[in-house]
Amino acid sequence: MIIAIDGPAGAGKSTIARRIAQHFGIAHLDTGSLYRAVALEALGMGDPADPATAERAAKALDLSMLEDRRLRDENVTAASSVVAAMPAVREALLDFQRNFAQRPGGAVLDGRDIGTVICPDADAKLFLTATAEARALRRTRELQGDAGGAIYQRVLADMKARDARDSVRRAAPLVPADDAIVIDTSTLDADAVFAAALAAIADTLAVTKR
Ligand code: C5P
Repeated sequence: MIIAIDGPAGAGKSTIARRIAQHFGIAHLDTGSLYRAVALEALGMGDPADPATAERAAKALDLSMLEDRRLRDENVTAASSVVAAMPAVREALLDFQRNFAQRPGGAVLDGRDIGTVICPDADAKLFLTATAEARALRRTRELQGDAGGAIYQRVLADMKARDARDSVRRAAPLVPADDAIVIDTSTLDADAVFAAALAAIADTLAVTKR
C-alpha cells in the first residue's frame, strides 16, 4: 500500500504521515528532508542557486545527512526550494524515492509531487492545505524556543515566498493530483487531521476494491 501526502509547508503533512505510517505499520519518508539535505550540501560547496553546484550536491547526497539538525535552519529551508526547482536535482532524487515507495508492505511518502510525479499510482492520495496565516502561526510556535526566537511576520513572508517558488516552477510544481483528496487543516488540530486522513484513505481503498 502506497500513501501519498502532498501540500505546502506547515500544512501538517509530516506529523500526519508519521502517524499514518505507524497506524498501518509501514515505512515513512519525509521527502522534503532530501531537498533540505541537498541544499545543506550545496551551501557547503558554495552557491546553492548555481545549478551545477546543486546537481553535484544532489548526486553526492549522503543519506546520513537526513538526520542533520541543520536541515531546519532558515537558510537551508530557503535554499531547499531553490534547489528543488532544478530538474537535474529532482531527477537525481527520483529513484531513491520510487524505490522507497516499493518496499514490501508499503510506505507513506510526504512532499510536494508524490501524488503527481513520484507515485502517480499510489493507492491513496491526500493533499493537506491550510491558509498561509494558519501555517505561519504553527511554524512560529514550533520555532519559539530556538535561539533568537521567530517572528511571525518573517515566517509568513518566508513561507509565502517558498509557496510561490514551489507552485510556479516548471519541474513538478506543487499542485494536488486530480485524484487527491484535499483536506484543509487551517482550523483542525493534529488529532482531527489524523481522523480525517484515515477516513479519506479508508474511502479511497473501499472505492478501488469495489
Ligand atoms: O516539506 P519541506 O518544507 O521540508 O520541503 C522543503 C522544500 O523541499 C520545499 O519547499 C520544496 O521546495 C521542496 N520539496 C519538493 N518536493 C518534495 C518535497 C519537498 O520540491 N516532494
